[in-house]
Amino acid sequence: MIATVTREGVVAWLRAFAAAVAANREYLTDLDAAIGDADHGINMDRGMQAVAGKLDGLGEAGGAGESGGAAAGDVAALLKTVGMALVSTVGGAAGPLYGTLFLDMGKAAGGAAELNVTVWAAVLEAGVKGVQARGKAELGDKTMIDALMPAAEALRDAASSGLSLADALQGAAEAAEQGMKASILLVARKGRASYLGERSAGHQDPGATSSWLLMRAAAEALVPGAPSARPGA
Ligand code: ADP
Ligand code: MG
Repeated sequence: MIATVTREGVVAWLRAFAAAVAANREYLTDLDAAIGDADHGINMDRGMQAVAGKLDGLGEAGGAGESGGAAAGDVAALLKTVGMALVSTVGGAAGPLYGTLFLDMGKAAGGAAELNVTVWAAVLEAGVKGVQARGKAELGDKTMIDALMPAAEALRDAASSGLSLADALQGAAEAAEQGMKASILLVARKGRASYLGERSAGHQDPGATSSWLLMRAAAEALVPGAPSARPGA
């Protein structure tokens, strides 16, 4: 059986990300205290709590039921609902940027009920391009792009070499982690941290860190039955 991305998988991913953000709220905020304004964990947790509330409202069973409305229907609609929730609940830079990620992923997902690894890679890539179009950050600017872009590229390369969805997502999470760690040495050229100039070097970027959590959550939860049961994952 070839694993695909389904609405249930996306729900599990979002719940895993919300849990990871809640567990790392202080950590993300401490990272932001060093080069920003000490609110990234607070912002992301507020946003993902709102998303979790939306997921509760939609009902786990799927389908465009009365309680969920049309938004519950498919992967695309779900991603758009998440994007809207983030845009409307999270202030600062990260909310609109993460909101754009999910909104543009939703646009790229089309109306399919299940997405294979190649399509999912294209969906993530479209989301990351959207973040770049909005925030104008390039690789190396010490932002969430430094984790998201390598992850999207790893996913695409894994898909084109025929890897399974689970292995591709694992590779994407590792690429995000490397990008996050590489952000430490960088001088920020976008966002609040850029006001510090050279003094921003030596600190890990908070947004790259939350983006790594997002990609790690995907590796753990997006594929049913390929969870953190993996040794070493
Ligand atoms: P704010 O900077 O408004 O306080 P947050 O603290 O929630 O917002 O988020 C900060 C993170 O947002 C940064 O660590 C960085 O990764 C990301 N970020 C800021 N500006 C941009 C941008 N233009 N493009 C991409 N990511 C950005
Ligand atoms: Mg901040």
